[in-house]
Amino acid sequence: GDLSNGAGADFYKIPAIKFTKLFINGEFVDSISGKTFETIDPRTGEVIANVAEGTKEDVDLAVKAAREAFDSGPWPRMPGVARAKIMLKFADLIDQNREELAALDAVDAGKLYNWLKNVDLPNIVNTLRYYAGAADKIHGETLKMSRELQGYTLMEPVGVVGHIIPWNFPSSLFFTKVSPALAAGCTMIVKPAEQTPLSALFYAHLAKQAGIPDGVLNVVPGFGPTAGAAITSHMDIDAVSFTGSTEVGRQVMEAAARSNLKKVSLELGGKSPLIIFDDADLDKAAELALIGILFNKGEICCAGSRVFVQEGIYDELEKKLVEKAKSWVVGDPFDPKVQQGPQCDKRQFDKILSYIEHGKREGATLLTGGKIIGDKGYYIEPTIFSNIKDDMLIAQDEIFGPVLALTKFKTIDEAILRANNTRYGLAAGIVTKNIDTANTVSRSVRAGTIWINCYFAFGDDVPFGGYKMSGFGRDYGLEALHKYMQVKSVVTPI
Ligand code: NAD
Repeated sequence: GDLSNGAGADFYKIPAIKFTKLFINGEFVDSISGKTFETIDPRTGEVIANVAEGTKEDVDLAVKAAREAFDSGPWPRMPGVARAKIMLKFADLIDQNREELAALDAVDAGKLYNWLKNVDLPNIVNTLRYYAGAADKIHGETLKMSRELQGYTLMEPVGVVGHIIPWNFPSSLFFTKVSPALAAGCTMIVKPAEQTPLSALFYAHLAKQAGIPDGVLNVVPGFGPTAGAAITSHMDIDAVSFTGSTEVGRQVMEAAARSNLKKVSLELGGKSPLIIFDDADLDKAAELALIGILFNKGEICCAGSRVFVQEGIYDELEKKLVEKAKSWVVGDPFDPKVQQGPQCDKRQFDKILSYIEHGKREGATLLTGGKIIGDKGYYIEPTIFSNIKDDMLIAQDEIFGPVLALTKFKTIDEAILRANNTRYGLAAGIVTKNIDTANTVSRSVRAGTIWINCYFAFGDDVPFGGYKMSGFGRDYGLEALHKYMQVKSVVTPI
């Protein structure tokens, strides 16, 4: 196919790249080694910018700055309402720079420009405001112990935090982690993914403008095995909050165990089921199934990548879904008509294509898609496989691309059993008008989030995280705030 819907000269815009250095202790600095790495435009495979490459020595410097800011700086000591005021200013600055920020993620990650500008960035602004609102409402308890003793608890910030984030939501995930940690009074070092370092550096600049004190928020781009591993194995980082693959999550936990037993939270992969029952509204169900796999080009941890449809409506739903997938618009993410941009990088592109080949070899039926689009960049057609057996690789592995495994079931018990036949447990969707069915499935599927008659519905106040090998710990909500705090018990005679 060709990229008739995009990638024309009109949409070929690379914003001016202002920030490419490490941000340590309130300054943009070169890496100690002087090394840089290329960040690539997935629309073309061309270099956007050379970014300073942080390694262990740079992480050490950033941690030193964060430690000083934690041990003797104002941030953990100021009243919550004062931290809130600065966080609200930070939120306003992001709001004022939405166009430039959206362009950075569009060009660095192939994400839709309009969606970033009009949905993701306003949501990020709200996330910061939500946690700013919580910063002055952190309190412990008083404990009546005995006639002789009484106690109370103090909720203290956990200390210096390392945040390691992936490339699929460079901005949203930055603030999922940074906002509650700031509210709690922590200091931190953020390592964006090597594929998408640009927006994180812009946020560092805005943080400084907002008045976040030097050393509180450090941003060190670099690679996983070097900069990332330096964070997870550091002796002076108190907690690490990781979002990424299950494979790397395991290494993060190992490194934490071998170093200083830092606290770990892991938001990992998924292979989430969407279960559609016979009584579902067909158009709505088809729409949810489509969005569930194609939103953000399938590069989302909670993608509804396994769709189970009850036999009474299976044929009709399959037909609707395939029609919709065929009219889905793939192209340049700056084009307002486009619904799906390029996959994030060459590695991801190749990985998705190899799963498509695998699906064919395993004997699944390719209903639509399966091919690359255009002769440059990393565009892949929306792809749907049917005749899935649950033990096929395409039904078990997280593909992280626009590739759906569509399958038929008979009874609710069968649906539950097969939905749970996965090592993951991040999310699940249910489409039905029957409240008993919805309740039964909600309680029986082992996943951290259940969406009934909706999908990808997130809220700042709604905890999000995994069961099973999708990890542990929760982002969002007050749960996430608690992740960045620890309880101190103080006891005294009466
Ligand atoms: P990845 O695990 O390879 O990389 C994620 C981050 O970890 C990057 O910043 C990377 O540089 C860093 N990293 C890599 N190796 C490291 C190491 N040895 N030590 C420390 N850090 C290291 O993941 P990816 O392929 O880039 O991202 C996709 C994965 O992220 C998918 O599996 C997806 O499900 C998951 N994800 C999960 C969520 C969630 O909330 N659960 C959200 C988004 C993405």
